Amino acid sequence: MKDYALIVVDMLYDFIDGSLACQGAEEAVTATVAHIGKHHDNPILFICDHHPANHSSFAAQGGPWPPHCVQGTRGAQIHDALIPFVDEDLCFYKGENPEQEQYSGFEGKNSAGQSLAEVLQLMEIEKVLVCGIATEYCVRNTSEDLLKAGFKVSVLKECLAYVDGDGHKKALEEMASEGIRLI
Ligand SMILES: [Zn+2]
Repeated sequence: MKDYALIVVDMLYDFIDGSLACQGAEEAVTATVAHIGKHHDNPILFICDHHPANHSSFAAQGGPWPPHCVQGTRGAQIHDALIPFVDEDLCFYKGENPEQEQYSGFEGKNSAGQSLAEVLQLMEIEKVLVCGIATEYCVRNTSEDLLKAGFKVSVLKECLAYVDGDGHKKALEEMASEGIRLI
């Protein structure tokens, strides 16, 4: 049994240098790789936004976002620097239903159909460290769902990227007030 798992949220090219490029994304990837280098024994789970081309969150369908992380495109791929740490069984895909926005990776499923929570329970993990993109949306929603499900949740502050600087700060304050540790 490992003492914690690292959960890497949406470190995908569209959020790094693509259609929804976020502030601080390359730095967040570099910091995440450095963190993994120091703590390489722990399981690493990847959350991946993974949309069909007609997803309801895209502007053409009336949603708030430009097309992003479309299945089969470069924008949906995990950053190359993290590929050495990717285990396909520990990749959880979200946003696959065209009708449903899904910021949280909590209900994400791996290719075997197992949910994030299910796999964490199988690994007897109670404590998670979360990093990724974007603080205000998918990192926050994923962290809050994990907290509600009873996991001890910490967020790696240096390993985050965001849509908006003020939104990032506010989200971190609110997450801290809910019981999510910032480390
Ligand atoms: Zn999305």
